[in-house]
Amino acid sequence: MPRRRITFSRNVFLPLTTVCRNRCLYCGFRRPMGDGCLMSPAEVEAILERGARSGCTEALFTFGERPEEVPGFGAHLDALGESSILEYCRRLCLLAIEKGLLPHTNAGVLEEEELRMLAEVNASMGLMLETTARVFAHEGSPGKVPELRIGTIEAAGRLRIPFTTGLLLGIGETWEDRRRSLETIAELHRRYGHIQEVILQNFTPQAGTGMASATMISTDEYCNTIRLARELLPADIAIQIPPNLADIARLVPCGVDDLGGVSPCSIDHINPEHPWPAIDELRQMVGDAELVERLCIYPQFIERGWYSPTIAPLVRRLTARLKEQYL
Ligand code: SF4
Repeated sequence: MPRRRITFSRNVFLPLTTVCRNRCLYCGFRRPMGDGCLMSPAEVEAILERGARSGCTEALFTFGERPEEVPGFGAHLDALGESSILEYCRRLCLLAIEKGLLPHTNAGVLEEEELRMLAEVNASMGLMLETTARVFAHEGSPGKVPELRIGTIEAAGRLRIPFTTGLLLGIGETWEDRRRSLETIAELHRRYGHIQEVILQNFTPQAGTGMASATMISTDEYCNTIRLARELLPADIAIQIPPNLADIARLVPCGVDDLGGVSPCSIDHINPEHPWPAIDELRQMVGDAELVERLCIYPQFIERGWYSPTIAPLVRRLTARLKEQYL
């Protein structure tokens, strides 16, 4: 019998800006505006080059949602000759492609036209649904209205963008809320077929945030949520857990397929207190399963041709490289 496969993507993390219009109570990523609140092209280029030298295949662009709505942020864009964070991100995605890394962008809630503009230079994109419930942790966050996030995921489906979404566990939602959130994702996938993976991420308290003393879910509850997800989600959606926040050895047997992005050369800027394990450590943690590297666009979407001509040569080159490595 073939060994079970657990996948991961070798990436670099590019937090273009920590300025964000939202105020999620658990957030340790958002920072007040100031010098250096927007990464310069030179900083991005240096990380991309380091990633390329380390064999990374993915450039993960993650940043605060609609930072232009925060007074004063426009001046930082002006200084770089940019009119919007999304236009700037697009330019840096092209740089990533030039350096040999496939972009995957998480830009928060987007309109269909904005998704279209970024889709041309991204192999896949993402937006955490987090929960379909209205929770207190999102009271100060206009972008965390569930209907808006569902709208973005749906628009991505219409545009045939290979998409990553997920749940944030332990932010005030009930078990029934989790069930509803998973059913919503399953339904979107049945309609559009575009969800490649669902991240089940456990909330971890961070010092200095409004939820610094909140309790995390237990490993047993985490495992039961993974089982529920496996029951409710179509089989072609991978279930991902973050390897630096979770007890991999105990959770992989509950139904995990993927460990997400692991970076040999940049930290997790969302959870900086939790370093990523080395690839060899991950190999130990997955036990009898085989740890296999993947691209940020899953094979079924490559087969269907769900990528733009702009990234097609790189998709082909990196697919061939991984095949050589893992066959
Ligand atoms: S949207 Fe993301 S970056 Fe913005 S406050 Fe919420 S968790 Fe933080």
